[in-house]
Amino acid sequence: MGESFPSDPVKAWTDPETWARRLTEDGCPFCPMEPFSAYVELPASWVLIPDKAVLPGYVLVVSKLHAIEPYELPQPDRAQFWEDAMRTAAGSRRW
Ligand SMILES: [Zn+2]
Repeated sequence: MGESFPSDPVKAWTDPETWARRLTEDGCPFCPMEPFSAYVELPASWVLIPDKAVLPGYVLVVSKLHAIEPYELPQPDRAQFWEDAMRTAAGSRRW
């Protein structure tokens, strides 16, 4: 079961033990998906809007398949993920 989204996301990136745990599917904060705010479901991803966005219009596009890097996704999921990301980027300019 994944961890809940961290209250201090910077710690998850800078603490080696926390980061190593988050790289695994069991420690991933997005697997299984636990929306923590408003979201939209797209074919290969979920679009999350954090409660405390760092910038106006900031959203997260999260793959439905666990991956550390987007290029690790198998095709055709990789192509669909990027299509979802571009669709989100175009839509978020209107927010
Ligand atoms: Zn994951």
